[in-house]
Amino acid sequence: MKNGLSIVVVAALVTGCAQAPPETQVVRDAAEALGGAARIQAVRTLTVEGEGTAPNVGQNRLPDDELPIWKVTDYQRQIDLANNRARVKQVRTAQFLFAGDNVQRQDVGLDDEVAFGVAPDGRAARAGEQVARDRRVELLHHPLTILRASLDPAAKVANPRQDGTAQVVDVTTPQGDMLTLAVDGSTKLPVRVSSLAYHPNMGDVTIATSFADYEETGGLRLPKRLSTTIEQYPQFDLQVTRNTVDADVGDLSAPADVKASPAPGPPTVQVTVEPVGKGIWWLAGSGNHRSIVFEFDDHLLLFEVPVNEARTKAVIDRARTLSSKPLTHAVVSHHHFDHSGGLRVAAAEGLTLITHRSNEAFFKNLVARKHSIVQDALARNPQPLKLDLVDDERVLKDASMEVRLYHLLDNPREGTNLYAYVPRDRILVQADLYDSNWLYHHWGENVLDNVERRKLRVDRHVPVHGAIQSFADMVKTIKAKPGASPTS
Ligand SMILES: [Zn+2]
Repeated sequence: MKNGLSIVVVAALVTGCAQAPPETQVVRDAAEALGGAARIQAVRTLTVEGEGTAPNVGQNRLPDDELPIWKVTDYQRQIDLANNRARVKQVRTAQFLFAGDNVQRQDVGLDDEVAFGVAPDGRAARAGEQVARDRRVELLHHPLTILRASLDPAAKVANPRQDGTAQVVDVTTPQGDMLTLAVDGSTKLPVRVSSLAYHPNMGDVTIATSFADYEETGGLRLPKRLSTTIEQYPQFDLQVTRNTVDADVGDLSAPADVKASPAPGPPTVQVTVEPVGKGIWWLAGSGNHRSIVFEFDDHLLLFEVPVNEARTKAVIDRARTLSSKPLTHAVVSHHHFDHSGGLRVAAAEGLTLITHRSNEAFFKNLVARKHSIVQDALARNPQPLKLDLVDDERVLKDASMEVRLYHLLDNPREGTNLYAYVPRDRILVQADLYDSNWLYHHWGENVLDNVERRKLRVDRHVPVHGAIQSFADMVKTIKAKPGASPTS
């Protein structure tokens, strides 16, 4: 009787193993390929060092052009798995014409629920809750961390399926984060982790990291190549020079004062109004993205719907207080994400958007995209996109106002840019052609050349970025800080 029971128990255990649900088997096989579940669960720290490239999404010359690239060096990611802490340090150098500091040192951390950044001067500041969540999920975009999380008895692994030669499962971590893990059908090593995130311009986005070039380190197999994409765009391509398991990473906790401070909410938006001519107002305030309002006979026109929904909604609301005439049109100067960030709320507010023809497909796509993770104004109040496309130039004119729009020609950075000229006041209105605060005016001569080719007689410059200046001062500033090619 006793022996019989033992046999039954053993048989049940053996059967249990053999009949593991397919999703569990995918995780078990991957863990085995990486070095075994016990080894994975015993890891205390992981340090990843390397270099790579980080493209700047939403900042290309034309919407379909290659993205401008930051070269990343001195990359170091330290993960303290036992204490849920991580720190990433890197140096990035612009490989494109950049008007600001071409070499930037970055240092960010996550201490359990607390995300923070450390400025080059050593001052640390807490980041918002969304950043903390995104960083926590980003940490799981690695074979070691995703398998460790998947092996947690409190994790849910589900929905096994085949994707080409890969076996795929969905993982919900004990914290409730959802990721998809793809494992190579023959080697059983993880080939990809993906997750959904919210991007203010693109809405619901898939962020995916692919793993390749596995090497043996510390009883584990770890990738030497990690390539991350956001939707169709490359986001970060890392070549690992060294993986180190269980090195002493020191204390990665957030500074005490950062930990004690509350997570900051969204920044408050402040909009100021400065009249710059009859029926022309400059809307500045918080941040460095301004908009300009023009009053025509029977309507108002806004130049620029920048940054994001919060900024653009505040600007639209303020513009509507300047006159009893309805705000009906907005010029979107170009497609860069910081300048088209208000595109969707402007559409939701019923504005007709005037922009260069080369933005048509890109803007249609941005307006059509799904925003379900965060329901923005357009998701809550769907409206058709009203586009008014400009080719080389457009004159908007009635008895009250004349605004001429011109396409910026032959600029090395801006392919879709429309700027404005008010002949009555000899005012130039523009975005990204010039900012009085820039360190380098790489394309300043091109801007002056455009003004000359269009035979504009500019007295004053009323910008989206920087300060209002006389044209003479603008020319002087461009000549004084022409900049050089970053590769020279
Ligand atoms: Zn800009």
